[in-house]
Amino acid sequence: MDRVTTRLCIVGGGPAGMMAGLLFARAGIDVTVLEKHADFLRDFRGDTIHPSTLDLMDELGFTERFRALPQRRVETFSGVVDGRSYRVADFSRLPTRNRFLSFMPQWDFLDFLAGAAAQYSGFRLLRRTEARDLIEADGRIAGVRADGPDRPVEIRSDLVLCADGRHSRMRARAGFTPRAFGAPIDVLWFRLPRRDGDPEAAAGRFGPGRILITLDRGDLWQCAYVVPKGGDAELRAKGLPAFRAAVAAIAPFLADRTAAIADWDDVKLLTVTVDRLDRWYRPGLLCIGDAAHAMSPVGGVGINLAIQDAVAAANLLVEPLRAGRLSEADLARVQARRMFPVRATQALQRMIQSRVIAASLAADAPFRAPLALRLLDAVPRLQVLPARMIGMGVRPEHVRAPLRA
Ligand SMILES: Cc1cc2nc3c(=O)[nH]c(=O)nc-3n(C[C@H](O)[C@H](O)[C@H](O)COP(=O)(O)OP(=O)(O)OC[C@H]3O[C@@H](n4cnc5c(N)ncnc54)[C@H](O)[C@@H]3O)c2cc1C
Repeated sequence: MDRVTTRLCIVGGGPAGMMAGLLFARAGIDVTVLEKHADFLRDFRGDTIHPSTLDLMDELGFTERFRALPQRRVETFSGVVDGRSYRVADFSRLPTRNRFLSFMPQWDFLDFLAGAAAQYSGFRLLRRTEARDLIEADGRIAGVRADGPDRPVEIRSDLVLCADGRHSRMRARAGFTPRAFGAPIDVLWFRLPRRDGDPEAAAGRFGPGRILITLDRGDLWQCAYVVPKGGDAELRAKGLPAFRAAVAAIAPFLADRTAAIADWDDVKLLTVTVDRLDRWYRPGLLCIGDAAHAMSPVGGVGINLAIQDAVAAANLLVEPLRAGRLSEADLARVQARRMFPVRATQALQRMIQSRVIAASLAADAPFRAPLALRLLDAVPRLQVLPARMIGMGVRPEHVRAPLRA
């Protein structure tokens, strides 16, 4: 068995874990990140880099390097009802430095964070290393037992940061069960070719019984087809031609290319979950990101919240960790700081899920655009509000942990 002693052990190399790894290592803390996969290459799972994250890249001095990565900028988001487009969010109005959303494959973003973190001597990323269990000693969590590529690994640490996502095993091992709020929808993801002359860059298309989100990814459209909870099986039972026809009905400009959905394997199901822990910590352990709160896909903010948690954790925990006096009260401070943004965002998401999305899916005849959509389109200044919620979130965090590598 390999044995590692480290100040901070982070389980999970997703957006929360990699950002935390970078920030703690940058502040001179010895960090070991465990990631069960060999690389960051996964299928689509959210490729949005929000203005708040772009601002963080600037704060960290990565502006030029980050901008050099291939990415697609999006400045507005529209809602399309009955063929008419209503602009609902305008990121160019944000009171911040980066006034756009960037789309880049999540593996590029994670590779970038891993590369940036690797320049600090205290940073260690153990790939193909899957955390199995927690080590408890003297009434606190004292580390993690994991399976490495060749043999088991035991990691001893002052703090275990659980950033292992919405199905977090470490959270369960710590005895935590998230409170689930239920969600009336699931989402099917697929891609279609994009052509010059296609309409808006990013839009949600609403029709009776159907919703399709289309995101401009350069030469393709990343599409999200929203179905009522559990509706995936029924849709598949009706067959691919019926699904293609449904996509064409809601987005007629895509009708000439729906054959690109060649197989059901091209359509990936995201089972929507909205949940959160009432308590994110116990002595020696803290949950962040999806492990602490799975967000609805409404607004596409899961990555942003995961990253903001990582920043708050670094801001509040670097000094006590460095001094070797990390207390439960320090961990409680991270939860106290981040719980309000999570609660407020989930409340808004759940309201939109039930009032707008479920209502649209239940409709069996064309309907008028909701008042909020018409108002936002008519008064462009208001478009900053959804842009702010999506792009910056509630209580955006800034890097405070000092550079001390
Ligand atoms: C299909 C899909 C589309 C999405 N679209 C968007 C979007 O457009 N915008 C947005 O903001 N969010 C989106 N999300 C949500 C977003 O991906 C998550 O909110 C975000 O990735 C959470 O980050 P995280 O670091 O907390 O967890 P994750 O990204 O889930 O990362 C967890 C990491 O931990 C690793 N891991 C798990 N268990 C272990 C273990 N035992 N040992 C070691 N490693 C482990 C995993 O391999 C993974 O790398 C989407 C999600 C899905 C599934």
